[in-house]
Amino acid sequence: MRIWNGWGYEHVTMGLATGARDLLKDRIGEGMPHREIPLEQALACVPDSRLPDHPLITRDKKERLVHSHGQSLPDWVALRQGGLERFPDGVAFPATGQEAQELLHFAAKRDLVIIPYGGGTSVVGHLTVPASDRPVLSLSLERLNRLISVDARSRLAICEAGVRGPDLEAQLRAHGFTLGHYPQSFECSTLGGWVATRSSGQQSSHYGSIETLFAGGEMVTFRGPLVCPPFPASAAGPDLRHLILGSEGRLGILVKAIVRISPIPERDEVWAVFFPSWERAVEAVRSLAGAGVRYSMIRLSSPTETLTNLVLAGRERMVSLLKRYLELRHIGDAQGCMCLIGFVGSRRQVAGARRLAFSILRKHRGVSVGRSIGEAWKRHRFRAPYLRNTLWDMGYAVDTVETAVTWDKVTETMASVEAAVAEALAPWHEGVHLFSHLSHVYPIGSSIYTTLLFRVADTPEETLARWRAIKTSASHAIVRTGGTISHQHGVGLDHRAYLGAEKGPVGLEILRETFAHMDPEHRMNPGKLVEGQDHGT
Ligand SMILES: Cc1cc2nc3c(=O)[nH]c(=O)nc-3n(C[C@H](O)[C@H](O)[C@H](O)COP(=O)(O)OP(=O)(O)OC[C@H]3O[C@@H](n4cnc5c(N)ncnc54)[C@H](O)[C@@H]3O)c2cc1C
Repeated sequence: MRIWNGWGYEHVTMGLATGARDLLKDRIGEGMPHREIPLEQALACVPDSRLPDHPLITRDKKERLVHSHGQSLPDWVALRQGGLERFPDGVAFPATGQEAQELLHFAAKRDLVIIPYGGGTSVVGHLTVPASDRPVLSLSLERLNRLISVDARSRLAICEAGVRGPDLEAQLRAHGFTLGHYPQSFECSTLGGWVATRSSGQQSSHYGSIETLFAGGEMVTFRGPLVCPPFPASAAGPDLRHLILGSEGRLGILVKAIVRISPIPERDEVWAVFFPSWERAVEAVRSLAGAGVRYSMIRLSSPTETLTNLVLAGRERMVSLLKRYLELRHIGDAQGCMCLIGFVGSRRQVAGARRLAFSILRKHRGVSVGRSIGEAWKRHRFRAPYLRNTLWDMGYAVDTVETAVTWDKVTETMASVEAAVAEALAPWHEGVHLFSHLSHVYPIGSSIYTTLLFRVADTPEETLARWRAIKTSASHAIVRTGGTISHQHGVGLDHRAYLGAEKGPVGLEILRETFAHMDPEHRMNPGKLVEGQDHGT
């Protein structure tokens, strides 16, 4: 069963190592656990529905509560501390594309707003219910969860778009294939959500991001179905798949996706390499990315993230042996950076790529410490988000900010974002524990991903004000240094104000006009990506 007011499933819990508690206490002070809103109290906030009867729609209050939010920090504050205000008037569960199209007809006839709902893992306010005079329908893709067919010769699979990560992988693996798309939200997010937000998986350097994997599909819209057949390549004008990718529920409902699949690889390895300093480490991964080496992932942690990860591992004996070994190799505690590097393929391909990669990393004083850290990371990678539940219970809020920039700006942007976030809570005399890594490393640049923790305040209003101060400072720093406002999480509500900085006025106009053409009554997820017509969107 999914947790209604936090991350993941009820049967999974993650403890925090004592060292990590001490580190947080030392950096930002002891967290104060706060009284949580019980489910009954949250349900009492759900008003009567404004929706008429329909066989595919439920007005059940628990369903409406669960579909009223995603996983952004404002969502967490509302659910855990208070401030739940807006709920969909009902939730529909179509089981076919035709039922989804019928629901659009019903929405047009009864003047409804629609929010497509995948796995509900958005972290930027994609699912926030607008303050609309019109009834709002959350359209869950949950029942559209089948693998329809596999074309092994063309390496394509046709899937229903509501399929969640683990179910999709299990169905593909039964045919000897994988999609290889592993965002950290893999357990709960869906194929349609990945496409609608232009998501990136952890091994995107090998398999490609979702924009590469999404070969075509079918979206139902107010203008009828928009169908993109798969082609190996096409010069037939602009590629309409890119209209669907990143559309964030504004155009229509993606009901079917055709994806590029790969045979299950013989080897899938993750190694850990340490560097004496950030500067050397960045140069190492930049050289590697430009050298055409076939790695599946690179995750280069800053010195603070390296330290935090080692403390979080909680295995004191192993960590102290590691530190002693690194000291012998002249890699100190304070400035050392850990880089996880992965390889996927046949035994021979992996051995060849690893040899080449390590020869480059060694030139930059990289020291390999073997596979145990990397393999442990791989085993627990989908468990890490459960720490958000544990930390909130202890009185700490967790959020992330992310961008991507070209190599000339990587270190500067990371430093600017970190400095902006570190200062943001000065008016409250509060600190932020923050750390960053580069993942998704490309020949021309890299994504930068910063995790931040701060203390939950006594009231939801103040917790939100603290978060807003951090988010605004970080977003301004990203725009100032020329980064994209999102490498992988999308725009939603929280990044909307900054989109113009990279799209420009003409770009924004193209988006607005396209949405207005496809959805003249502004029913589809209004207010996300670009402003909507309804009051409050
Ligand atoms: C702990 C955690 C870790 C994360 N890690 C990553 C990561 O590693 N990489 C990454 O890219 N993202 C990550 N995310 C962000 C999030 O998981 C992604 O944005 C994901 O793609 C959202 O998918 P979803 O199915 O949950 O979509 P939802 O959150 O349900 O919806 C997101 C948006 O897509 C629209 N949408 C969903 N399905 C459809 C559909 N079928 N048709 C039309 N529109 C649709 C919705 O209307 C909404 O606007 C993480 C989030 C969390 C909470």
